[in-house]
Amino acid sequence: MKATGVSSCDSGLARDPWAIDRAPGYGPGASTGDQIPADAPRQGPLPQRYTDASEEQLQQWIVEAKERLGDRVRILGHFYQRDEIVQHADFVGDSFMLAQAAKASPEAEAFVFCGVHFMAETADILSGPDQAVILPNLAAGCSMADMATIEQVEACWAELTATLGGAADDDGLAPVIPVTYMNSSAAIKAFCGHNGGIVCTSSNARTVLEWAFERGQRVVFFPDQHLGRNTAKQMGVAEEQMPLWRPHLPLGGNTAEQLRDAMVILWNGFCSVHKRFTVAQIERARAEHPGVRVIVHPECPAAVVEAADGAGSTEYIRKEIEAAAPGSVIAVGTEINLVNRLAEQRPDLTVFCLDPVVCPCSTMYRIHPAYLAWTLESLLEGSVPNRIRVSDEVAGDSRVALERMLAARP
Ligand code: SF4
Repeated sequence: MKATGVSSCDSGLARDPWAIDRAPGYGPGASTGDQIPADAPRQGPLPQRYTDASEEQLQQWIVEAKERLGDRVRILGHFYQRDEIVQHADFVGDSFMLAQAAKASPEAEAFVFCGVHFMAETADILSGPDQAVILPNLAAGCSMADMATIEQVEACWAELTATLGGAADDDGLAPVIPVTYMNSSAAIKAFCGHNGGIVCTSSNARTVLEWAFERGQRVVFFPDQHLGRNTAKQMGVAEEQMPLWRPHLPLGGNTAEQLRDAMVILWNGFCSVHKRFTVAQIERARAEHPGVRVIVHPECPAAVVEAADGAGSTEYIRKEIEAAAPGSVIAVGTEINLVNRLAEQRPDLTVFCLDPVVCPCSTMYRIHPAYLAWTLESLLEGSVPNRIRVSDEVAGDSRVALERMLAARP
């Protein structure tokens, strides 16, 4: 996505990907201002054949390599990925849909996951042991997932246990149940599995919180404060019963009493893409487009979710647009690549992004076609680049948390 003519959030969007990859940080786009962990994986330089190639050459190489690889390799493309990547994907979906697609493809030897790091980990956990999951650019992390490290989560748990005790109450409810959003590292999913907790997606967060409240007096929710807050508010939990846990402060910046009174302890994480949406943008959309329907993702701040007409997962947004009556006007608060694609699929509607500024997810943006071409041609030559592997122990405990989620359906 080159920023041509349209207002964009970062002049870096117009630079070539090699300049971006040499720079520190997440790259241009919505996560630019977030701190990248010092130990985050870095991508080595690509061979010059790829960095010198034109867009057309790269597309041709991808098509040819994919054809030669056939069923051996499946390309998984996240909804937020750029069109030049998505057009080659065998499956397009959100992170969990793609991990399930990997699980349902036992014939494939390798999955090229065009998404971000935690997603490739989940695909590795759910796919077979001999199937390789590849992230074409190792620098494609997720700034939200990186806001909660396993060390911070373990330190938080130790403080919560010391403050709230470790034993269940007379009703058999544990002091606290750990819940993590899918957008977290495998290590945190495993932590939840190991400690009686569970994973959620943005589609099933409410069902998962209900599951947790059947087993615990309160929940600690990693890493997205907004999904946690929006879901708990919908269930009637008061704002004052949702303290924020700031990982660098003792007791997360709370008093012991606040933690004892809490229903949902929210980790201080957020998605920089969805944090950009504001109530003022909704007001402007309503003023400029009378009758507009506003739908947003629950990773948006609570005030935005409240001011919208509807909020839900990517799948919810997709279905809302699919089902809209011809001529409808819909303003959407989610990632720009997805909004643009949905708008193209329904030319009989007016679908636009609430944010007038072009600002993609920086980390998704790291998957440039050159990386996809390099990955596929490497596979053709018999080498497996950038394999993402989750240890057996972490994978086992993560699967426990994921299976709890699946059992807690819908
Ligand atoms: S959109 Fe937000 S949560 Fe999703 S990958 Fe990008 S930074 Fe992470």
